[in-house]
Amino acid sequence: MGERVGLYPGTFDPITNGHLDIVERAAAHLVDRLIIAVAINGSKSPVFTFNERVAMVQEQTAPLADKYGIKIEARGVQGLLVETAAECGASMLIRGLRAVSDFDYEFQMASMNRKLEDQVETVFLMASENYLFVASSLVKEICQLGGDIEQFVPAEVAIAMREKFSNK
Ligand code: ADP
Repeated sequence: MGERVGLYPGTFDPITNGHLDIVERAAAHLVDRLIIAVAINGSKSPVFTFNERVAMVQEQTAPLADKYGIKIEARGVQGLLVETAAECGASMLIRGLRAVSDFDYEFQMASMNRKLEDQVETVFLMASENYLFVASSLVKEICQLGGDIEQFVPAEVAIAMREKFSNK
């Protein structure tokens, strides 16, 4: 079997321990190369710029690439995900599922992506129980309100978040 390449798409605004848990499990069990596809201008009006989000993804995932001896790279994605997957030679789209509330949207996206490109399979990893409630949006809200975010994001990301919100 050839190299197994996975594409993990998201906004990563910013990358959280929940995202990293998915990256780690994909690296450990699923892929030889993982491409993290960072949305260039997602519909979510990100707080961090595209370059900031990519830099944080790269910095935080590098140790996992070393640990599992796989390649992990970050790139921008704009437009159709299945086209990016084809460009990268990825046969798998990796997504995390936290709660039933994620399901409808994810099911619709996975079904639509399969219609568009049946050579790419969407693979879901259930969120680990420790990270079930971790979402970038919630962590940003907590940070903005002065709450403790250390347990939800890596230390460097927590620093970047506090800087971002103190500038506002
Ligand atoms: P998107 O804009 O695609 O929702 P996100 O950056 O919010 O981007 O999430 C990217 C992917 O990571 C999604 O599949 C999401 O379900 C998953 N994810 C986010 N947080 C967690 C978490 N705490 N545990 C598991 N998966 C997660």
